[in-house]
Amino acid sequence: MDDCIFCQIVNNKLPAHIIYQENQVIAFLDNNPKEAGHILVIPKEHFSDLLEIPASLLATTIKAVQKVAQIINQKLSPDGLNICQNNGLLAGQTINHFHFHIIPCYQKKPAINKEDLQTIVKILKK
Ligand code: AMP
Ligand code: ZN
Repeated sequence: MDDCIFCQIVNNKLPAHIIYQENQVIAFLDNNPKEAGHILVIPKEHFSDLLEIPASLLATTIKAVQKVAQIINQKLSPDGLNICQNNGLLAGQTINHFHFHIIPCYQKKPAINKEDLQTIVKILKK
């Protein structure tokens, strides 16, 4: 999909802070993070939402979510993790390419600035 921002990231036409990738899935930092280490996990193939994505690809994507959550947990030591996934404009979906959000939460404000994506990507990929 040429006009989809996430497809452009998958096809290297738009830059992103990529944290993890495998054959069918890619994960990168959200560029407007709610917390330090807020990551989006998406299937490389374009499906608009939960109702459209094939079940087998959904299973592959959620397994990648678990892997990325393990990386966040190991490298950033959050106190919890929220997984969310919006479907439809009214539900808050702004990008019509299926994605999971992984949003860490912290009891104490982390020393690292949530907007400092360069530093966060370095920590997560170390
Ligand atoms: P949603 O509101 O569930 O559709 O989430 C879309 C998310 O994509 C938002 O949290 C945005 O901050 C994020 N986002 C939009 N454009 C980009 C981009 N180019 N790189 C990284 N994240 C993005
Ligand atoms: Zn797309």
